Amino acid sequence: MPEGDTIFRSARSLNRALAGKPVTGFRSTYPKLTRFHDDTPLTGQTVDQVESRGKWLLMHFSGGGTLATHMLMSGSWHIYKPGERWQKPSSTARIVLENREYHAIGFNVPVAEMHTPQSLLRDGRIPAPAGDLLRPDFDPDAALERVMARANQEIADVLLHQWVLAGVGNVFKSEVCFVAGLNPFRKVSTLTADQVAHAIAVARRQLGSNVMEDSPGTIVTYRGTGRRTTNHSDPTESLWVYGRNGQPCRKCGERIRHRLQGFDARVTFWCPQCQPMPVGTDFDG
Ligand SMILES: [Zn+2]
Repeated sequence: MPEGDTIFRSARSLNRALAGKPVTGFRSTYPKLTRFHDDTPLTGQTVDQVESRGKWLLMHFSGGGTLATHMLMSGSWHIYKPGERWQKPSSTARIVLENREYHAIGFNVPVAEMHTPQSLLRDGRIPAPAGDLLRPDFDPDAALERVMARANQEIADVLLHQWVLAGVGNVFKSEVCFVAGLNPFRKVSTLTADQVAHAIAVARRQLGSNVMEDSPGTIVTYRGTGRRTTNHSDPTESLWVYGRNGQPCRKCGERIRHRLQGFDARVTFWCPQCQPMPVGTDFDG
């Protein structure tokens, strides 16, 4: 499942490969996109910018249109040199965007829509730039307000909400709560503003450290996800709690627990010792 860091890296690479260059070819298996292309050809337009907003990837074209894609569970964008062998079957290619130097292929991209500047602003699902943890113009005070406003919801669920904090997915949800020392099932109303502000800062740091580059400025044609929240370089020790049910906590040795949480029943991992519920709370976690 791609999270904000993965989409950010994809957008950064796509931006380097596509921005400022005229589009020489566009194909899609989505009738809505090809109809748009028939009416307003993308070929000949320039890609102005590719950016991520939480888990959405936006490609802005010089003609004023924006292609918004969301990867959900299965989608991914790859960049290839013309003639380079694709690493996924061509039958799963949903969108192909070409310039003279690069071909960008959207494999299994389940959500793809063309927007005007107006429809982009009106869209209730695509976060505004200032809500994205990975952007330099991220506004932590406004994010704190949005979290605190959800007093009756559990903190881990609120962290997942893309309109509250764009970028945190299911892995980071558990990792952020662990590092912040918060039980993921605590209602926001039981937390102080300082605790929430700290959790937001942890989320920003964890996502940020997962988008740092080994070779800044290069265009990466394909890369797996080597996500890491601990300081260990060993890939088997890269996460604190996520996916570690029943294994000993890396800090205290207690057994890591897991449980489904929230409306979507997403799995949450935590250490009951390092992330206790406050005394007097009716909860067995
Ligand atoms: Zn622990």
